[in-house]
Amino acid sequence: MSAASRAKRLKPSNEVIVFDSSRWVSFALCGIPYYIGGEVSELEDLLYYPPEEFTKRGIDLRLGKAVVEVDPDSKTLAYKDVKTGSVEKITWDKLVLATGARSKAPKIWPEVREAENVFYIVHLDSGKYIKDYAKALGPGKRAIVVGSGYVGLEIADALMKLGLKVTVLEALEQVAPRVLDPELAKALEARLRESGVEVVTSAPVEQFEIVNGKARAAVTPKGRFEGDMFVLGVGKVATTVYVKVTPNIPMSNPACIMPLANPLHFVTLSTLMTPLDEYSPPRKKPTANLSRSSSTIAANPACA
Ligand SMILES: Cc1cc2nc3c(=O)[nH]c(=O)nc-3n(C[C@H](O)[C@H](O)[C@H](O)COP(=O)(O)OP(=O)(O)OC[C@H]3O[C@@H](n4cnc5c(N)ncnc54)[C@H](O)[C@@H]3O)c2cc1C
Repeated sequence: MSAASRAKRLKPSNEVIVFDSSRWVSFALCGIPYYIGGEVSELEDLLYYPPEEFTKRGIDLRLGKAVVEVDPDSKTLAYKDVKTGSVEKITWDKLVLATGARSKAPKIWPEVREAENVFYIVHLDSGKYIKDYAKALGPGKRAIVVGSGYVGLEIADALMKLGLKVTVLEALEQVAPRVLDPELAKALEARLRESGVEVVTSAPVEQFEIVNGKARAAVTPKGRFEGDMFVLGVGKVATTVYVKVTPNIPMSNPACIMPLANPLHFVTLSTLMTPLDEYSPPRKKPTANLSRSSSTIAANPACA
C-alpha cells in the first residue's frame, strides 16, 4: 500500500489498482502474537489504515482477487476472484509485485496441508484461526510449536497466555539459532523453562502423524511429541515464485528479476524481494541503501 500511495501522491492522475487475495490491506502481521495472547483485542486493531482510507486516496482497491498469471510481454495479468473462481485479465503500464512471503511448512511436510489443527502464518486471518482453535481447545491442552525463531517464540508465549501447555521443538542445538549466540540462547531457554515451556532442541521434525484429518504427533529423532494443535514457524519463501510468469523471466532465480530493497528479512533473516520498479532486466548496480546481501545478489553471475 506504500507503493500504491506513493504512486498516487507523485502523480494524482495515475490510475492505481491494488489486487490482494486476502480481505485485508495495510496490516501489522507482527501484531498477530499480541492478538492471540489477548493484548490486542480485535484483528482490526492491527490495521494501520482501514481500506476506505485508500479509496479516499483514489486507489482502486480490489480485495479477494488473487493475481495468478503475469505476462510482461503483453503487460497483462490475470486475476482470480477467490470466492467465485472467475478469472479476468487486465493490462498495466507499471507493475509492482509486493506479494510477501509464504510459510515453507506445507512444502516440507505435505501431510499437514489438510490437517485442521496445524497452523502457519499466511495472513492476518491466520491469527484468528490460531486463537479460535486454541480457545476452543481450552486451557491445559498441548500446543506444539515447531521452530524457535522470533515467530515460533512469540506464538509460544501467546499460547501460554491462553493457558495452553506449550512445547517448542527446534531442529538446531539452541533456541533462536539465527539471532542469538549460544550463551544468550541458554539464558533464554532457562527463562522459557521457568515459564513452563517445554523446550526441546536438536529435534528436527521429520514428519507428522495424521489421524482422521488431524495431526496427532510430531516425530523427531528425540521421539514423538503429541499435541492438540501445532503451529509451524519454520521460515518463509518469497510468494512471487508462486505466481505463474511467462518463461522468459528467470524465475528459477527470483532474486534476479528486479532491483531490491531491504532484502534481509528481519524475522527469518532470509533474502526477500521488495520490488521497486516495473519488470526490468537485472541491474548490476544495486540501488541506494541496499544491505550486504543484495550486493551479493547483484554480484551473482546468474543475474548477469
Ligand atoms: C508473527 C510475525 C511477527 C513479525 N514480527 C515482526 C517484527 O517484529 N518486525 C518486523 O520488521 N517484521 C515482523 N514480521 C514480518 C513482517 O510482518 C513482514 O516482513 C511484512 O509483513 C512483509 O510485508 P510485505 O508487504 O512484503 O508482505 P505481506 O505483509 O505478507 O503482504 C503481502 C500481501 O500480498 C497478498 N498476496 C499474496 N499473493 C497474492 C496474489 N497472488 N495476488 C494478490 N495478492 C496476493 C497477501 O494477501 C498479502 O496481503 C513479523 C511477521 C510475523 C508473521
